[in-house]
Amino acid sequence: MSYLAKNYNRKKISFKFGKGSYLYSTNGKKYLDFVQGIAVNSLGHAHPKLIKTIRNQSKKLWHVSNAFQIPEGEKLAKKLCHKTFADYVIFQNSGTEATEAAIKVARRYFYSIGKPHKNRILCVKNSFHGRTIAAIFASGSNKMIEGFGPKVPGFDHFIFGNHKSLKRSITKNTAAIMVETIMGEGGIKVIPDWCLKELRKLCNKKKILLILDEVQCGISRSGDFLAFEKSKVKPDIVPIAKGIGGGFPIGAVLMNKKVAAGMTPGTHGSTFGGNPLAMAVGNTVIDIVSSKKFLNNVKTLSKYFYLRLNKLKEKYPKIIKEIRGRGLLIGLQLHKDQSKFIKKLMENKLLTIRAAENVVRILPPLNVKKNEINESLRIITNVCEKLK
Ligand SMILES: *Cc1c(COP(=O)(O)O)cnc(C)c1O
Repeated sequence: MSYLAKNYNRKKISFKFGKGSYLYSTNGKKYLDFVQGIAVNSLGHAHPKLIKTIRNQSKKLWHVSNAFQIPEGEKLAKKLCHKTFADYVIFQNSGTEATEAAIKVARRYFYSIGKPHKNRILCVKNSFHGRTIAAIFASGSNKMIEGFGPKVPGFDHFIFGNHKSLKRSITKNTAAIMVETIMGEGGIKVIPDWCLKELRKLCNKKKILLILDEVQCGISRSGDFLAFEKSKVKPDIVPIAKGIGGGFPIGAVLMNKKVAAGMTPGTHGSTFGGNPLAMAVGNTVIDIVSSKKFLNNVKTLSKYFYLRLNKLKEKYPKIIKEIRGRGLLIGLQLHKDQSKFIKKLMENKLLTIRAAENVVRILPPLNVKKNEINESLRIITNVCEKLK
């Protein structure tokens, strides 16, 4: 029997080790891993540079309190700010902590300018911002909040893509709009650039903050370091996590100078957040994934992948409804429930993961090779052929 609580519906498979895009199971089988810990292992498994970093740093220093200065963290924060809109960073350990910290920064900003009544956060109905008590109520998903009342107040919701519902939901108490630039769990739904621009304009007009949750779509996953960059929009606050640690738990909230002014000493903290071991890993990941050459390669591979997937959609129009996403954050939307399709892909040694709206999520490592993409396409074609 298992002594782990039953809160996950786990597949009956476990892995002994991983290398690059592949996972090797305890029963001796090799899988092409296009889950990568849900967009976490951005450089695949057992990347030599990450192994070297962990090895070196682990001999020097793992953890010290945030009561002291941490040069590795200073270094990573500087890189994050130089590469993005941000002026300041707070480090956390996970995505949901990063989104919660983002909410705290937004509320604290209005408090610090003498407008504490502006404390409500407007989110997309059925979005995903993590699993803490506040984050599940931010997500506005009936399934996630079931049994976890009382309701955490302070969140309002609008329907994705419904601009009337968005504008109607802004009140004098709204502090910020928080949306995922590309909805991950919600079904790989991309907010178009023109919408992001309008969103920014709306926030400026209403004098409220724009929080873009890039926990899943950020850190080069979209082909840009942060997914909103292409739109030229500047958000106020951006939580990041998944990809930045390459498998080591790191979260962070990026913010501009204006809102950072509210975060005075004592307002927020984390025992583990930003420890030297985590920061050393983060520095290595960012140096690799944020280079222009690396990003161009993600874009090129992504273009090829979408082209081929769209051809498959044309070939199997009764199975595949739509190809969604950007960069290497890809959603294969099916007409029917996707469980059987994912199971068949796994039987054929390709690992993928579900998202809402019948979507099969495809998340290769960002350094995936073209022949590995081809291998996945062959498996997807086989499964379409069998299920047609
Ligand atoms: C995964 C995710 C989170 C939560 O991250 P955890 O590390 O699981 O807490 C928050 N927001 C988005 C958009 C995510 O995809």
